[in-house]
Amino acid sequence: MHEMSITQGIIDLCLQHAGGRRVNSLEVEIGELSTVVPEAIEFCFEACSRDTLLEGAQLVIVRTAGRGECQECTSETPLTELFGSCIHCGSSRVAIIAGEEMRVREIEVED
Ligand SMILES: [Zn+2]
Repeated sequence: MHEMSITQGIIDLCLQHAGGRRVNSLEVEIGELSTVVPEAIEFCFEACSRDTLLEGAQLVIVRTAGRGECQECTSETPLTELFGSCIHCGSSRVAIIAGEEMRVREIEVED
């Protein structure tokens, strides 16, 4: 399962940064254009964090909006889907500039 390995990656990254301390919470950013399903990440996190320093940590998922740059009129346009079109001129030649990312933004460890 796709989300399972992503979640495992998030956990590994947090463990590296936590330096042996317990992780209280973590904030993960998932772009709206990403194919990653936040609910699935939450579900996998429960299972994957068990018996690690992340067990019981609060997982906060932040969605970031999709944005693109139109190759036709060069305007910036909001994107709600991967192959959206420009709201200004209707062109479908839009390069995605934000919204596909998936990253750990912040972790909070115990003192
Ligand atoms: Zn345009």
